[in-house]
Amino acid sequence: MSVANDPKLTSWVAVGPMSDFPIQNLPFGIFSQGDGLRRAGVAIGEQILDLAALQEDGYLDGMGLPDGLFAQPTLNAFIGRGRAEGRRVRERVSILLRHDNHEIQGRADRDRFFVPMAGAQLHMPVFVRDYTDFYSSEQHAYNVGCMFRDPEHALLPNWKHLPVGYHGRASSIVVSGTPLHRPKGQTRADDAEMPSFGPTRLLDFELEMAFVTCRENGLGNAVRTQEAEDYVFGLVLFNDWSARDMQKWEYVPLGPFLAKNFGSSISPWIVTLDALEPFRVAGTKQDPAVLPYLESEGDRNFDIRLEVAIQPENSVETIVSRSNFRYMYWNISQQLAHHTVNGCNVGVGDLYASGTISGPSPDSYGSMLELSWRGTRPVVLSDGSERRFILDGDTVIMRGYAEKDGVRVGFGEVTTKILPAKP
Ligand code: MN
Repeated sequence: MSVANDPKLTSWVAVGPMSDFPIQNLPFGIFSQGDGLRRAGVAIGEQILDLAALQEDGYLDGMGLPDGLFAQPTLNAFIGRGRAEGRRVRERVSILLRHDNHEIQGRADRDRFFVPMAGAQLHMPVFVRDYTDFYSSEQHAYNVGCMFRDPEHALLPNWKHLPVGYHGRASSIVVSGTPLHRPKGQTRADDAEMPSFGPTRLLDFELEMAFVTCRENGLGNAVRTQEAEDYVFGLVLFNDWSARDMQKWEYVPLGPFLAKNFGSSISPWIVTLDALEPFRVAGTKQDPAVLPYLESEGDRNFDIRLEVAIQPENSVETIVSRSNFRYMYWNISQQLAHHTVNGCNVGVGDLYASGTISGPSPDSYGSMLELSWRGTRPVVLSDGSERRFILDGDTVIMRGYAEKDGVRVGFGEVTTKILPAKP
């Protein structure tokens, strides 16, 4: 494990006990300030360390990095250099921020390397060319199967033999803080003969995580489970917005389309797989046994606590779900191996979302569809109002963090306000 993960490390930059961004995390993102250009940074406490300024002043010399690597509007060029180089940069930043290091700490003008997160704009960390959404939580697949079929046939015959997924829409992925309008589309009521058109009545979130790839396999080449993690730079929180009434009408026979492609929201900081190393856990035992190309060894799941809150307009938030990324039946190595086993090529900056992450208990379900059980059991918020699905003016907030040995490695938030449908 990297020295940068040592739980005893502390930084000379102030980090509160509940911060998601201690020196053991050091996630990468893209930020700007005022009218300034977008550039790469690392989160530490409530500050952003400006990587472009760091490189400009020579603090990353001798690492073989091209000039201006971090003075770019996305992280694609940087992460495309591979996981090993990402690890070296994270370890160098860790050394510079250590309590006993004076290279920057000792400078009278050290503040110029930092921007307070509260005063910065965070942007999409990568240009996303391709996005895939899996369906890898057994409880979620079971719940949805119960609602739309019956408990006996809740999981379809393929579900335990392959990580089910579909190709999503990359162009409408937005960063936390970007509001979305309620989408309009076709729906058909159960008792109606003809469809109607209008704003969705069943707007839902899906609590997911997504991994970001940093390496190309080249068309025709499969990625094996044993090497899959070399393709993964890190993870973000992912809200796969869904219009359930549109989905129900349109999804047969080719799957999700306009019910999903109007927007998906991600958290701005990419937490590296290296930072998540201490939080590995075993997945559930897979039964029946999977085909050889899907076999994976070692602890390939991650213990990341997740929560979803709803904040109505001018009101307080209520946490409506607490789940965990460890509940995934299919791990990210299996997802990537399956995705490429036919020769499909992976790109730098692609996003692969997990599918809704529902835990075993009803308060750990990852969508309103499940939390309200298709609208039959309204969720009561702390201001007394009820939700079956998401209303105009609601803000949905997802958070996630891993914690062990007194160290908390977090993702921050993905926050999205829902605006009324456009006229
Ligand atoms: Mn989804």
